[in-house]
Amino acid sequence: MQELTHYINGEHVKGTSGRFADVYNPATGEVQAKCPLASTAEMEKAVEIAAAAQPAWAATNPQRRARVMMKFVALLNRDMDKLAEALSREHGKTLPDAAGDVQRGLEVVEYCIGAPQMLKGEFTDSAGPGIDMYSMRQALGVTAGITPFNFPAMIPMWMFAPAIACGNAFILKPSERDPSVPLMLAELMEEAGLPKGILQVVNGDKEAVDAILYNDTIQSVGFVGSTPIAEYIYGTGCSQGKRVQCFGGAKNHMIIMPDADMDQAADALVGAGYGAAGERCMAISVAVPVGEETADRLIEKLVPRVEALKVGPYTAGNDVDYGPVVTGAAKQNILNLVQSGIDQGAKLVVDGRDFSLQGYEEGFFVGAHLFDNVTKDMDIYKKEIFGPVLSTVRAQTYEEAIGLAMDHEYGNGTAIFTRDGDTARDFANRINIGMVGVNVPIPVPLAYHTFGGWKKSAFGDLNQHGPDAFKFYTRTKTITARWPSGIKEGGEFSIPVME
Ligand code: NAD
Repeated sequence: MQELTHYINGEHVKGTSGRFADVYNPATGEVQAKCPLASTAEMEKAVEIAAAAQPAWAATNPQRRARVMMKFVALLNRDMDKLAEALSREHGKTLPDAAGDVQRGLEVVEYCIGAPQMLKGEFTDSAGPGIDMYSMRQALGVTAGITPFNFPAMIPMWMFAPAIACGNAFILKPSERDPSVPLMLAELMEEAGLPKGILQVVNGDKEAVDAILYNDTIQSVGFVGSTPIAEYIYGTGCSQGKRVQCFGGAKNHMIIMPDADMDQAADALVGAGYGAAGERCMAISVAVPVGEETADRLIEKLVPRVEALKVGPYTAGNDVDYGPVVTGAAKQNILNLVQSGIDQGAKLVVDGRDFSLQGYEEGFFVGAHLFDNVTKDMDIYKKEIFGPVLSTVRAQTYEEAIGLAMDHEYGNGTAIFTRDGDTARDFANRINIGMVGVNVPIPVPLAYHTFGGWKKSAFGDLNQHGPDAFKFYTRTKTITARWPSGIKEGGEFSIPVME
């Protein structure tokens, strides 16, 4: 059995707590590795190392820091296949999807090559007689991030690339379910020229997370994961005086207007609903066709597409649409929710419950499910399922459809499919959701825009990547300077005001 490590001060370090988490091969159901779960003392040690290394890194010319990012991009491209394979092996997603996971992280690293431009600050010449005023963005110090299992490459990079480009040290606490790729990323950053101690990976569970939250040296915490944990980390982190941003769960609605191209909408729904086995925070989990006739046409188009989905292990190559879910517990949770949908009166038009794959009977595969006639009060509508289950809620009018999405507690992403610009524009303006697609089912913004939901999908006022990341990972300091010629005029005893 492989024993995974932490990555501390440039070394792979074995865990000393004696506690481990099982890392599965989701395709076979076997435990393939043990992930060490750090104690508070192990986390504190990493923080001390980070604090010692960070000042020299912050004092390094920002262009030199950016060159590390440049080299890191080259190394990610060099090792893309290796990273994707390691990612699929622990997560279960297909190889092209795993490469996409690395790629969407890489794009944020590319954006961070422009950090010197983002960090330039502001300057006012002659803000007063002989006075100059300037603002600079300074690194926070030691920063930390806690990441989910579903994007083990992308989300760590979304956090550590801007943090480190800004001159911070970063401690990554990745998901204990698929920790190998984060460890590989830390190695690659060092190969790219990053000094030891600036990026460390400390594996763990709640104990490691609490060790981050209650550590006085750590200045900021980024979190991505489920909403209850996001709320806990946001509340605790803020009460400890840290800068915190937390991104939580989702229930993304796609509205299909009667004038939409129904083939396009059905294709989009199948990709967005079932890709990565539905384990994406931007997956579409609710289809809202407007009008009975639209709903009937949509279901007619969806059923054969959903039935034709190919489910299998990543090793089967490109002939697989999605793989297993991450653990047996996740599979059981999905199947329980499917049962609750049936019990509460939804119509299961594609039933994946009996899905089984020869040779992989113990794997965590879940067949594709499609529900029709789902209503607002059902658990499958209210809860995030995070599996290959698409719920159809029939709305009679556009107002009812937009109201559904607006009233849901989550507000990560949404989409509308229509040919009518006026409807699309109205939807984009009124909807209380952070990321909106118009005829685009998964509207994940590119690296130079920002990513973040509203309502119970995000806590904190700055988004991930884009310009917000440079604000989150720096503090503004504003200097008002007058040089000695002004001082000879003597002291001033009233507050200075502009005349
Ligand atoms: P999770 O909340 O179970 O775990 C996320 C992280 O929190 C992990 O590192 C885990 O070790 C840690 N953690 C778990 N329980 C904890 C506890 N009790 N105390 C402290 N820390 C704890 O989430 P997950 O299952 O890994 O990921 C799936 C969830 O993440 C879904 O809800 C999905 O919507 C969400 N997600 C959101 C976004 C977004 O940008 N909004 C992106 C990806 C995933």
